Amino acid sequence: MSQDNKPKGSATKLVEAGRKEEWTGAVVNPPVWRASTHLYASEADRKDTLKRNQDGDFYYGRRGAPTQWALAEALTEIEPGAEGTVLYPSGAAAITAALMAVLRPGDTLLISDNAYEPTRSTAFGILKRWGIETRAFDPLDHAAFEAAFCEKTKAVWFESPGSLTMEVSDIPALAAIAREHGAVSLIDNTWASPLGFQPLMHGCDITVMSLTKHVGGHSDLMMGSASAGAKYYKRLRQTAQQLGHVVSPDDAALALRGLRTMGVRLERSTQGAVEVAKWLSSRSEIAHVMCPMMAGDAGHDLWSRDFTGGCGLLSFTFKAGTIEARAKFVDALDLFGIGYSWGGFESLALVFDAETTRSATPWPPSGWQAGDGLGVRLSIGLEDTADLIADLDQALSRMND
Ligand SMILES: *Cc1c(COP(=O)(O)O)cnc(C)c1O
Repeated sequence: MSQDNKPKGSATKLVEAGRKEEWTGAVVNPPVWRASTHLYASEADRKDTLKRNQDGDFYYGRRGAPTQWALAEALTEIEPGAEGTVLYPSGAAAITAALMAVLRPGDTLLISDNAYEPTRSTAFGILKRWGIETRAFDPLDHAAFEAAFCEKTKAVWFESPGSLTMEVSDIPALAAIAREHGAVSLIDNTWASPLGFQPLMHGCDITVMSLTKHVGGHSDLMMGSASAGAKYYKRLRQTAQQLGHVVSPDDAALALRGLRTMGVRLERSTQGAVEVAKWLSSRSEIAHVMCPMMAGDAGHDLWSRDFTGGCGLLSFTFKAGTIEARAKFVDALDLFGIGYSWGGFESLALVFDAETTRSATPWPPSGWQAGDGLGVRLSIGLEDTADLIADLDQALSRMND
């Protein structure tokens, strides 16, 4: 039985996680339990269930059924330090609900200025209307971060690498500062997933993911999650129930299916992204490649220290491009679709204006060349990397036609 005590590797965990026999029966995957009403054996049974509130207790559809429980349980098992996981109908819903779980009117929130734009929009929009003030901080400036705290600061929102611009933050150092000031640390860990970065082991209290990306992995579902230790898990769960969040069992089954192959997909797309990043760096048309997995990137040392994996997402800017030339470039791509989201099996390209990747702190970030401004983000999928590079090559050659 000594085998049971040996910690299992992440690949083995991805295969085994959440597969309880009482939820799956004799088959490998939990069936899709479509359910609103749950039937009780007796009035005494109904009363007894009322007292408990945990996954595994049949109650009513809004608290899920075995398909959703199996997914939440699997995500908890692969998230070191987590007591439980709450599911949400999208990543954006997870972000808003996690913030609402820890903040109240009069509080101040600090937000990393390179965070996903809809997260900043939630902070400066609905949270403001509910009496919460938000201050953005430069994720690379620790002194300014510390100086931004006041007595009302109750929570800090991190995202690393930052959306679009990919700066890696020193999360252990920043989360330690937040803790000293009595603030809750939340992080959007969609980029790395727990396979690449374990936030709860690096000082964060709550970790949020858009499952739409790597976990789903096939561009056909929307979902989000938040995981935490015992203290914050209860609050997350209660807040989600009060907000009425529930995910469909069909989507939960798809997400579970995606989760089983997430490790090999991420390994493959990471490899492809590093190759593409190196190739782009060698091109005279390109000013700046943002890919922390690549040696030489400004965030590479921190990434190597804290991360155990990456993903297929990277960004770059053109040296002397025009908006029209950049549009020609993405239009000329054959293997890269133009669209939002990422983490699917297919490659995608999305243009962004670098100046709009921030709300408050100075542009360009330190270390960037002047003039860097026209950005493109690539999500590298599972195609042959040589084909992707050939496609980028022909599109670059046509952008000034
Ligand atoms: C896509 C994304 C989200 C939002 O997820 P949805 O499932 O699309 O609502 C949150 N954070 C990051 C970093 C994302 O890329």
